Amino acid sequence: MSTARATTAVPARHLDSARRLVVKIGSALLVDDASGDVRRAWLDALADDIAALRARGVEVLVVSSGAIAVGRRHLGLTGRALRLEEKQAAAATGQIRLAHAYQEALARHGITVAQILLTPDDTEERRRHLNARATIDALLKLGAVPVINENDTVATDEIRFGDNDRLAARVAQMISADTLVLLSDIDGLYTADPRRDPNARHLGEVHEITAEVEAMGGEAPPGYSSGGMVTKLVAGKIALAAGCRMAIARGKEAHPLAALAAGAPCTWFVPHAGPKTARKRWIAGALAPLGTLTVDGGAAAALRAGKSLLPAGVRAVDGSFERGDPVIVRDAAGAELARGLSAYSAADMDRIKGHRSAEIEALLGFRGRDEAIHRDDLVLSGPGAAGPGIAGG
Ligand code: GLU
Repeated sequence: MSTARATTAVPARHLDSARRLVVKIGSALLVDDASGDVRRAWLDALADDIAALRARGVEVLVVSSGAIAVGRRHLGLTGRALRLEEKQAAAATGQIRLAHAYQEALARHGITVAQILLTPDDTEERRRHLNARATIDALLKLGAVPVINENDTVATDEIRFGDNDRLAARVAQMISADTLVLLSDIDGLYTADPRRDPNARHLGEVHEITAEVEAMGGEAPPGYSSGGMVTKLVAGKIALAAGCRMAIARGKEAHPLAALAAGAPCTWFVPHAGPKTARKRWIAGALAPLGTLTVDGGAAAALRAGKSLLPAGVRAVDGSFERGDPVIVRDAAGAELARGLSAYSAADMDRIKGHRSAEIEALLGFRGRDEAIHRDDLVLSGPGAAGPGIAGG
C-alpha cells in the first residue's frame, strides 16, 4: 500500500513542528454523558496543554462541539432525538455555558478566550472568508485563544456543516494552519473497523485519501449526522488540500495534547506541500479573475520583493469585482505581474487608487485594510512563481 503506512514508529514530531494549531474537541470528550455537564477536570487539563503549547510560541485555536449536549438539559430536552429547531434552541443555551467554561479554564493561565461562531458561508465565500481570517489573525496576534463553533442557531439543514470535523478543517484552511488535531474517541484510522475485524491494523501515517483509504472509514452510521470516521476523512481531504497535516487521536483521558506530543498512537495525514504553497495555489487557481489593477513601477518592484500592494501604487482599475474577488495585477505596459484577492470592490478601489492608506477613511467613510491586496492573498505570476502556470486547472 503506497499511500498509507501501518504503525511502526510514532511521528510525534508532527506536533512538535506545529506553529499554528487547530484542535477540534468532540462533545463526547467535553460533556459528561450522564449529567450533561462540562467535564471540568478534563477541560482544565486540556487548558494546561494549550498553555504549554502557547508558552512554546504555538498559536492555538479550539474548535469545540458540545453546545447542544450541554444546552439540551437546561431546556428539558432529554431522553429523545431532537428536531432541528430543538437542537438550535439547545445550542443557543449551551454555547454560553461552553464559552464560559473555556474562559474559566484558560483564565487559570492568564489566557483570554474569544468566541467565534461560523457558518459554512463564512469560510467558503471569499469576502467573508477574508473578514473571518483577518479577525482570527488579529486575535492570535493579541494573544487570545479563539474558541470556535458552528453558528448552530442560524444554520439550517441545507446550509450547515453539521459536524465540527469539517468545520475545523475549513477553519484550518482559512487561516493557513499547519496542523489540525481531531480529538475523539478513537486513536486513528484502521484498515477496517477494529470493533468487528480482529485483523484490522492501525495506520500511523497517510499521505493521500484514496478510494482505498476511504473504504477503510466505512459507512456513516445511519441517522448519525456528526462524528464518525467518514466526516474525519472528509476533513482530512480538506486539510491535505490546504497543506495542513491532520491527526486523529484519542482525547478522552486527561492531557490529550501532551499525550500526543509524547507519542500516543494516532493517525497523521501528511500533505505534500505546506499551507502557504497550498493557499497560493488556491488563489492562483481561483475562478477567472474579475478585474485588473494596473500599478506603477514602485508598486511592481515592491510586489516582486514579496510586499503587499498598497492603494498608492494603483494607477487604474478595470472590471467589476467585489471585495475578496480575484483580480490580475499588471504593470504600466500591460504585462501580468500577479494575481490576488482584492481587499476592496472595484468602485472603492477606484476612489482610493493613488492615495496613501492613511487617507482611505476620509475617502470611503470607513477604515478598511491598509493594503489593496495583502501579500498573503497575492501570487506572483511568471517563471518560477506559483502563478498562472498552475492556474490552468
Ligand atoms: N456544533 C455542535 C455543538 O456544538 C456539534 C457538532 C458536532 O458534534 O460535530 O453541539
